[in-house]
Amino acid sequence: YERKKVLVLGAGYAGLSAVSKLQKIIGVQEADITLINKNEYHYEATWLHETAAGSMNWEEGVYPIAKVVDNMRVRFIPAEVTKIDRDAQVVETTQGEFSFDTLVVALGFESESFGIKGMDEFATTIVSPETAVRTREEIEQNFINYKTSKDPKDLSILVGGAGFTGVEFLGELVETLPELCKVHGIDYNQVKITCVEAMPTMLPMFSEELTQHAVNFLESRGVEFMLGTAIVAANENGFVVKVNDEEKQLEASSVVWTAGVRGSRLMEESFEGVKRGRIVVKDDLTVDGYPNIFAIGDVAAVMNGTGENARPYPTTAQIAMQLGEHTAKNIKLKLNGEKMEPFAYDDKGTVCSLGTKDGIGVVLGREIKGKPAAFMKKVIDTRAVLKIGGAVLGVTKGKFL
Ligand code: NAD
Repeated sequence: YERKKVLVLGAGYAGLSAVSKLQKIIGVQEADITLINKNEYHYEATWLHETAAGSMNWEEGVYPIAKVVDNMRVRFIPAEVTKIDRDAQVVETTQGEFSFDTLVVALGFESESFGIKGMDEFATTIVSPETAVRTREEIEQNFINYKTSKDPKDLSILVGGAGFTGVEFLGELVETLPELCKVHGIDYNQVKITCVEAMPTMLPMFSEELTQHAVNFLESRGVEFMLGTAIVAANENGFVVKVNDEEKQLEASSVVWTAGVRGSRLMEESFEGVKRGRIVVKDDLTVDGYPNIFAIGDVAAVMNGTGENARPYPTTAQIAMQLGEHTAKNIKLKLNGEKMEPFAYDDKGTVCSLGTKDGIGVVLGREIKGKPAAFMKKVIDTRAVLKIGGAVLGVTKGKFL
């Protein structure tokens, strides 16, 4: 009798939720569980805009994975996954090879610039603690440069994309930049923040009233929106945009791309039929044809509905955590020789923060805005820490202390 090998790749919301649940419901004799993650820490991806805008140090948004995994039950290997051989059932990493009986692929997201010229080179992103810190440092350095250059470009910030990340980042910026200005003796009125969005509307998942609240909040604090304007290139002077078929240069020293993410690039190399790093999974969260391989979180397209009307759920921390827990339950069923269960998403709602004191959202079917939304966002952020890390981490990382 040999213990089955369960291998989990990635310690983001999906992978770490899976491991956190697995170690609770699977006995040591039942399976040998290994978690592999690039960093020794888990980071709160949903807090990165706060680091990027300077309202949070990156260390505050991370915690050691060792604090979550029970080392009597789970082996944690800090290593980067370099190859997944789905048929040989082997994963290659920077710390050697690992074979598996059951695999959970939860390798998360990266930035996607859609091949737009100059974007990877000239814009910063908000997709990891490192990139968020770089974004923050670039803005601060340009403000410092302004004191000698007096070039308005150094006080100009361009944000590409008005999705959730873009809007939450802007909300944080209008809170922190007045402070940064004070520190450097700069008049905040000289600061120019422009958000460029290709679609004619923004945040289409919210009602017009809620979206308008967000727009008013940001505009009254100096943000200018350019909707229906596609970014076609980036260069050392800023973005090149296209309006009515005409190209125009927008100038700024700080240029941030928040207009696209994709699942891990390893997905295309490892599986067939992957689009933007995401693979469509079956309702039990396994990959078609591979009943022993689960794909969850940002590398998975979990379909809502069936047939022609099926659409993938948006990739959020909320769904990732539920996918992780469900995967753990299905692995338990599988080990018992029972039938796995289909995943059902329990949508508790969505909140888009506007700094620490405002926001918009829909929670349990009710629309909220202003202070209650900001409050709910802190509840959501704290809940994520508690759900994965338990009470001890909740006390140190929760947002009420
Ligand atoms: P996104 O893909 O949702 O939004 C990107 C935006 O950029 C879109 O509005 C798009 O029209 C625009 N865009 C794309 N190409 C462009 C171009 N060339 N020029 C101008 N605009 C362009 O990305 P995101 O905001 O990073 O969100 C990613 C995922 O994470 C989503 O599923 C989102 O729901 C989730 N998320 C959720 C929250 C939350 O719940 N509070 C916060 C952040 C992210």
